[in-house]
Amino acid sequence: MGGDIRKMFMLGQKIKLENPSFDLIDLSLGNPDLEPPLEVLSSLKELLMSSEKGHHRYMDSAGLLEVRDYLAKELSKSEKTHIAQDSVYLTVGAAGGIQILLRTFIEENDEVIIFAPYFPEYIPYVENYNAKPIIVKCDKKHEPILDDLRKKISSKTKMVLMNSPNNPSGIAYSKKTIEGIVHILEEIKNKKGHVIQLVSDEPYSRVIYDESKVVPLMNLYAHSWLVRSFSKDLGLAGERIGFIAWRGEFAFPEIINAFRNASRVLGFVSAPRLMQRIIPVAYNAKVDVQIYKNRVESFIRILSGGGIETIMPDAGFFVFPKCPVQNEYEFCEGLVKKGVLCVPGSGFGCPGFFRASLTQEQSRVEDAAHRIVQFVKNK
Ligand code: PLP
Repeated sequence: MGGDIRKMFMLGQKIKLENPSFDLIDLSLGNPDLEPPLEVLSSLKELLMSSEKGHHRYMDSAGLLEVRDYLAKELSKSEKTHIAQDSVYLTVGAAGGIQILLRTFIEENDEVIIFAPYFPEYIPYVENYNAKPIIVKCDKKHEPILDDLRKKISSKTKMVLMNSPNNPSGIAYSKKTIEGIVHILEEIKNKKGHVIQLVSDEPYSRVIYDESKVVPLMNLYAHSWLVRSFSKDLGLAGERIGFIAWRGEFAFPEIINAFRNASRVLGFVSAPRLMQRIIPVAYNAKVDVQIYKNRVESFIRILSGGGIETIMPDAGFFVFPKCPVQNEYEFCEGLVKKGVLCVPGSGFGCPGFFRASLTQEQSRVEDAAHRIVQFVKNK
């Protein structure tokens, strides 16, 4: 949990402790509330009841072969490039996948480029390797500014860590932006022989409202690493299941072995075995994304009626409105006292905004939006 998210969450806890009947709508944590689809639950039940032995044993850190094979075939279709069984690696959520990639590629004093707004955990993730996060700004539409990216790349840049659809903005970077990023990385590789790894953290790619907005990255850039999880689309955040995928032409044993080594030293050993078995059964199932979209639309509509601007997200359950007053910390702290917990944008590297996680029933989300509007009116 990022520092500012934690701080707001703790403030809410304190108020609740002092006054247990206080009606607080907590929009601080990004904990997806939609239950897993039936396919997940029935397959779990079946696995648990089956007489087959070995569901709970140690296994190859890379994951079950049949699951890697299944994902390789599905991803080859969606990514429009060949993904091999040996270029898929099962992980402990998207977070586990990022850790494995950082541990494998990053050394002390390396630089990792991150676009703001960003997932707050990226900063400690990178600093944990004594490497330096380098922040590239986004424009008014929350799309990375390519000129800034070009300026911030140095001889120490080892990786670009991008997140689209994005937490906190919910924006899926446009094809033009992604092609622009790739173009810059290709140019540096061709002119200087400097290869920069492009890690694409995509836990929200399948909770997108319009699937045509997902840009298949791996057919654009050879050195790209796709990180996904089933935390949001299958509602399995607490079960910790995800994967890394890369191009089939790099299905080298050296890479898989480096990842196996990282999994062991990081203490994951392997992705949860039972959860891996769910993937081939439930891959094409999903939580009802329309429920998230309805909440987001209502929330934005109510805020907009009160003069608070928000760019409509492309995916997920986060909204990232412009803060209507100068000091976003003061704003969020004042809001808690009115019964709504949000997080200041600075926590995501983006002052002047605040994040609301709409992981509550529609009526609560609307109630929260009305409280925010009222709070601003009375200021
Ligand atoms: N990356 C981003 C951008 C996220 O928002 C999250 C979770 O909120 C994660 C990674 C971690 O996802 P997982 O639960 O799959 O590890």
